[in-house]
Amino acid sequence: MKTRVGIVGAGPAGLLLSHLLHLEGIDSVVIESRSRQEIEATIRAGVLEHGTVELLRKTGIGARMDREGFVHEGVYLRFAGTTHRIDFKALTGRSIMVYAQHEVIKDLVAARLEAGGMLLFEVKDAAVYDLDTAQPTIRFHQRGKVEELQCDFIAGCDGFHGITRPSIPSRMRHEFTRVYPFGWFGILVEAPPSTDELIYAHHERGFALVSTRSPQIQRLYLQCDPNDELKNWPDSRIWDELHARLETREGWKLAEGRIFQKGVIAMRSYVVEPMRYGRLFLAGDAAHIVPPTGAKGLNLAAADVRVLSKALTSFYKSGNEQALKDYSATALRRVWRAEHFSWWMTSMLHRFHDETPFHHRLQLAELDYVVTSRAKAQTLADNYVGLPLE
Ligand SMILES: Cc1cc2nc3c(=O)[nH]c(=O)nc-3n(C[C@H](O)[C@H](O)[C@H](O)COP(=O)(O)OP(=O)(O)OC[C@H]3O[C@@H](n4cnc5c(N)ncnc54)[C@H](O)[C@@H]3O)c2cc1C
Repeated sequence: MKTRVGIVGAGPAGLLLSHLLHLEGIDSVVIESRSRQEIEATIRAGVLEHGTVELLRKTGIGARMDREGFVHEGVYLRFAGTTHRIDFKALTGRSIMVYAQHEVIKDLVAARLEAGGMLLFEVKDAAVYDLDTAQPTIRFHQRGKVEELQCDFIAGCDGFHGITRPSIPSRMRHEFTRVYPFGWFGILVEAPPSTDELIYAHHERGFALVSTRSPQIQRLYLQCDPNDELKNWPDSRIWDELHARLETREGWKLAEGRIFQKGVIAMRSYVVEPMRYGRLFLAGDAAHIVPPTGAKGLNLAAADVRVLSKALTSFYKSGNEQALKDYSATALRRVWRAEHFSWWMTSMLHRFHDETPFHHRLQLAELDYVVTSRAKAQTLADNYVGLPLE
């Protein structure tokens, strides 16, 4: 098989890249180790930045998002028993969309298949070769047969645990990592929304987040031990912790319901530089990870592939390689901004295991500054709704 761009991974990065390239008349093949059903059912991110929303709309895949997603014009910060709103619309003129990642995936898969796109699911043992030549290759097994895909370029969109990043010689990889000493215990609940916008809560017992998925389904998170096990969290303990961490002086009420999914998410910051080796370009979680506090993971994946698709388009339309040469530096500028924002939100809102009363007071002072200084609130709002796309 031959294609112009071979894409490893059908997550948001790989599918959106394939879609953007298709709109420019550039053919690609996406290979994915999981089944279509699995990728369409994996619950992950839920907040889309303004720029991501606009990109989906402009490229013809925003219709269901506009019908079923929720536009939020702010978020609540809750600390010391009081709730404060950060008004995105007033501060930036922009807003965010709450629309689940697996719904974005469904929309992208449908659009690619409708356009006759090549998506190969359930491939095994993918490996990439000849990355520093003009014809890199992807080899994989499908239905018991060895397949070879010859490409002009390969996009490594296979997430943090994929095979493309480790295929770059280690001497060419500069890695930056921070592992946080806590995780998030996430639940999905059958209940009506308890709030019209997301609530980020700072509490002595640890962080909590109230988010939504639909008028019937809510997504709630609690800071927990990163190695915690589900069996340690019977429903009664989850509700007790959520009530304790979210209670306010005004008597705010959390709507309870049947918990139908539980999971622990580890928290890590990670970046590899550069995001290119020869004709392999990394995008999304394959190149960087953020803790979910800033809601940036999915949005960074979209921003990367937007830059990459423009660079590949420029190459195919004019033969000019400059944008491809600039890809890593251009993408990394936004990546590090998001890394900083995610680290800042995480540091400000979570309880650290070695936290002293002094540190706790500093967090409260910072939160108080965010909700009373227009400049500081603007910083949070600008970053949360997302800087304009390149
Ligand atoms: C449990 C969890 C919860 C999260 N929650 C949030 C959140 O609340 N907010 C937020 O902003 N972000 C969140 N994130 C991060 C966000 O979901 C990711 O940043 C986003 O999915 C990145 O998209 P991607 O396409 O780069 O990678 P992925 O979505 O990881 O997609 C990579 C794809 O590549 C495939 N693949 C991997 N290896 C191979 C291989 N060898 N061959 C073929 N295919 C392969 C995988 O099966 C996968 O489908 C969460 C992540 C996780 C894991």
